[in-house]
Amino acid sequence: MATESILIVEDEEDIAELLEYNLQRNGYDPVSVQSGEEGLNHAREFTPHLILLDLMLPGLGGIEVCRRLKAEPATATIPVIMLTAKGEEEDIVAGFEAGADDYVTKPFRPKVLLARVKAVLRRGAARPVKEEDVLELEGIMIHPGRHEVAIGGQSVDLTRTEFRILHFLSSRPGWVFTRGQIVRAVHGDDYPVTGRSVDVQVAALRRKLGEKGDMIQTVRGVGYKMGE
Ligand code: CA
Repeated sequence: MATESILIVEDEEDIAELLEYNLQRNGYDPVSVQSGEEGLNHAREFTPHLILLDLMLPGLGGIEVCRRLKAEPATATIPVIMLTAKGEEEDIVAGFEAGADDYVTKPFRPKVLLARVKAVLRRGAARPVKEEDVLELEGIMIHPGRHEVAIGGQSVDLTRTEFRILHFLSSRPGWVFTRGQIVRAVHGDDYPVTGRSVDVQVAALRRKLGEKGDMIQTVRGVGYKMGE
């Protein structure tokens, strides 16, 4: 199997070196650049398997780099892990809105970072979910065509919006979605969905899913994800 290439976009040299060292030791092929512009150019030219993207960069910031990467077909599918400062929840939300796949807060333990890298690469390799595919997640069956959900053969009565939220989260287990992303994905035709009402919908969904309800996990300050 080919070595997976990882692009590091980080202006702090000691952090970039620490990342390179740990990635190399674990069999990856890291390259680091110091600015957002260089990051974009490298990504376009070499399409790495994964990008570790610092958000606080001089010049073109990490959020903008992420947005551009995700907007260009050639780079849109490269997974991005953001490196954020501890406690900067707004940055994390902005990063997810810009299309980032995961985040690690600095200072990080190399072990934690490597686990995230591995998980994101594994997810990226997973088969993309088609709109009409029936999903099965730990005993929850979701039939998009029929707008039906069943747990252990028992059908669960959901509203259209609840169904859409469940289907959206379940189509990417383990991925964190912000309220804004959920609103856009489920954009209700029955009534307008807002960030606040996502919380209400999720609370109702959890209740209706019974003991499976806690598979929908709250990511504090960010949004929701479906447990893996
Ligand atoms: Ca920085």
